[in-house]
Amino acid sequence: MKYPFLELGSANEPYNDALTQAAARVIASGRYIGGAEVETLERNLCSLTGCSHAVAVSNGLDALRLVLTAWRELGMLREGDEVIIPSNSFIASALAADQAGLKLKFAEPDPQTHNIDWDRIQPSGRTRVIMPVDLYGRMCSVPERFRRDFLILEDACQAIGATGAGAIGHAAAFSFYPTKNVGALGDAGAVTTSDPALAEAVRALRNYGSLRQYENIYRGLNCRMDPIQAAFINVKLPHVDEENALRRSKASVYDREIVNPAVIKPEMPSEPGQHVWHQYVLRIPGGRRDEFRRFMADNGVETAVHYPTPIHLQPCYKSLLSPGLSLPIAETLCSEVVSLPIGRSTSLADAAEISQIINRFN
Ligand SMILES: *Cc1c(COP(=O)(O)O)cnc(C)c1O
Repeated sequence: MKYPFLELGSANEPYNDALTQAAARVIASGRYIGGAEVETLERNLCSLTGCSHAVAVSNGLDALRLVLTAWRELGMLREGDEVIIPSNSFIASALAADQAGLKLKFAEPDPQTHNIDWDRIQPSGRTRVIMPVDLYGRMCSVPERFRRDFLILEDACQAIGATGAGAIGHAAAFSFYPTKNVGALGDAGAVTTSDPALAEAVRALRNYGSLRQYENIYRGLNCRMDPIQAAFINVKLPHVDEENALRRSKASVYDREIVNPAVIKPEMPSEPGQHVWHQYVLRIPGGRRDEFRRFMADNGVETAVHYPTPIHLQPCYKSLLSPGLSLPIAETLCSEVVSLPIGRSTSLADAAEISQIINRFN
């Protein structure tokens, strides 16, 4: 492929020396669990998000799961309470609620933003949590009445560095999976919140339910972040605005250069900071997505689909849901979306050339 979707090695190249030094520092420190690198990262995440607490954890799925489990331990949720999740998200959003003993209720997205459509949400008497996902890096906004009536857990895994990311609800989850806008060199994640009781419970739960050695307040988990990953993230996090600006400039090229009635471009946000373009996602209506992807591949452009199957139709959830549950907007979006290359391995010139290739699709 002349235009690969994403090459992580070249994405990390600008940081190679600093990453190597960070690894050497951790190796020499003799501290391989917790310690200064993890604490520094937590402070950096507080400054980035404006939250008063950040807890570094093992990955994004665990970040979501730990918040929901902590709310249960704190008596704010009970087994069987309902969590509303947009069905066109990544599977982790649903697995977290499920694994915390909560009941899933799937919601429709707004086809303009791909984010949860607050006007179509139908809470029941058991609904306690709503989980907006900043999908593709586009910020959700949370209407005040929902923030008042429900616990809001923001899945900010794709939106690090966006305006308000990590702070629009009562807690948020981040992921540093290698392909994310700030990627570790392995798995890592974080919880942010301004609720001190929640932060303390998450801190305990990630470490066997313990804040003091051999005193176990909760039946906890082992969901800690390795200091070597924290050290890598501490190298890259100060550059989050540069990384996001690079993505934004490629999104602008696509927005300006793609002119083809066969494709629907993503809506540009009114404020640039509302979108960090984790993905640049076109819609190809008329059942022509596969044809479009073949055309792009034939012209050397690798594309991806985020995500081909809405969560409510995944084999693992189908049997749990009422038969015939249909979410036509989520299902249509999942059949139309296609992501273009936008990461570090794609240059501005590449984005312009890819746009010209798209303009020849008919
Ligand atoms: C990446 C991602 C996650 C999970 O993160 P991991 O670190 O891979 O566990 C959860 N939700 C969304 C929306 C994501 O993009």
